[in-house]
Amino acid sequence: MMTVQASKTVTDVDKVDLDKPIFDSQAFRLNDEQAAIIATARELGQTVFAGRAGTYDRDAVFPTENYRDLHRAGLLGIAIPKKHGGLGADYQTYAIAAAEIGRYCGATALTWNMHVCSTLWSGPLADDLDMDGPTRAEHEHRRAVHYKRIVADGAVYSQPFSEGGAAAAGGVAFGTEAKPVKGGWIVNGKKIFASLSGHADYYGVLCTEIVEGEKASRRNTLYLALPAKAGGVSVVGDWDPLGMRGTVSRTLLFKDAFVPEDAALMPRGVYFQAAMRWPHMFLTLSPTYVGLAQAAYDFTVRYLRGEVPGTPPVKRRMYPTKQIAVAQMQIKLEQIKAIWFQAITEACANPTKEQVLRAYAAQYSAMEGANEVATLAIRTCGGQAMLKSLPLERIYRDSRCGSLMLPWTAELCLDRIGREALYETGESDD
Ligand SMILES: Cc1cc2nc3c(=O)[nH]c(=O)nc-3n(C[C@H](O)[C@H](O)[C@H](O)COP(=O)(O)OP(=O)(O)OC[C@H]3O[C@@H](n4cnc5c(N)ncnc54)[C@H](O)[C@@H]3O)c2cc1C
Repeated sequence: MMTVQASKTVTDVDKVDLDKPIFDSQAFRLNDEQAAIIATARELGQTVFAGRAGTYDRDAVFPTENYRDLHRAGLLGIAIPKKHGGLGADYQTYAIAAAEIGRYCGATALTWNMHVCSTLWSGPLADDLDMDGPTRAEHEHRRAVHYKRIVADGAVYSQPFSEGGAAAAGGVAFGTEAKPVKGGWIVNGKKIFASLSGHADYYGVLCTEIVEGEKASRRNTLYLALPAKAGGVSVVGDWDPLGMRGTVSRTLLFKDAFVPEDAALMPRGVYFQAAMRWPHMFLTLSPTYVGLAQAAYDFTVRYLRGEVPGTPPVKRRMYPTKQIAVAQMQIKLEQIKAIWFQAITEACANPTKEQVLRAYAAQYSAMEGANEVATLAIRTCGGQAMLKSLPLERIYRDSRCGSLMLPWTAELCLDRIGREALYETGESDD
């Protein structure tokens, strides 16, 4: 369990020493309702998930028990509107709660993100997008089906879109295809690195609807919740990666899998509209890594104070080199938090160019910065601290994987910032 002596509080309720929030509600102007949801995530993370994280990582197994706890705490429905039985959290509240989960178990936070996006994108985000009356009514009816499954039955959704080609980066149409048939679609295709494979109840598949006589187009992207038990769905390949091992991101195959009409998580054309008009939808992989950066910092402070359970109570904090390293980590952490908080707070439809560039910069800062903080933590705490019996080496490995997450990998963020800062829409050098 991660606690930091210098920043702990004691609740009267259970007498557990609780870590302070990553974002203090007064300093960051969060209201009581937001603070309560975020506190639920933090307390579950610290008191339950932290203790299980090592096993999920070592065995590369899915955190099934954590998902039961997330359901019990109402957190599977964090972004589901209250009228549908959810907690009704907005984007900012979800993002901060996810950072708190990532602080204690990276794999749980990252997979929870895939699940929550099914509700966030179809919920508050879709409410910002244009739909005519009948389409909006149909969407309202369909999303209620998904929300009920999640709130009442604890159904878990995943979000496979990577295919190994240029589609997940937003370059071309998805190769996974949905052919319209009576009452739904027939889906064929393959998704790689599909977190929650074999564990989600529904795979929220991004695919291209086949339109007679038309070339495959990103405009025809569908977002369908394919039942994991549907015929023609299989999970293949092994899973033995460097980090984020509990995500179980294996390969999904769809062979003539039938998906009923009410499985659509967004109406026709709305995913494409979202990708164009609500770009912060792709920033939601970053909270996990903000949490990992905080975890690396928390561990270091505690270790140098001689307060990590299972290690001798040897203090190392009196050495100036350690103090400088902690100062560097604290500065980096505050830089990550500052730009990231600004970006998640201003997420909206039709952001300005400046806001989009800031979102890329926030993603880059969190994804690369978490590993920088973890690297400093390893160097500063030394050999005894990187043993597998302690969480730091897992935090280090997990944090290394953030910059690989499409569509906003660290490389693609640099690419977009450079290009979009230097060229206005439609400009070229010809
Ligand atoms: C732990 C983990 C969990 C994951 N979970 C999911 C999931 O649940 N769902 C899902 O859909 N995906 C998931 N992914 C996949 C992830 O988003 C990437 O799709 C995957 O890592 C891509 O790997 P790749 O080597 O095939 O990338 P490639 O497409 O081969 O790209 C390799 C690198 O090249 C760069 N690159 C790619 N395109 C361009 C371009 N046009 N211009 C410049 N540079 C470019 C990028 O930086 C990229 O990192 C997960 C990945 C990891 C590591």
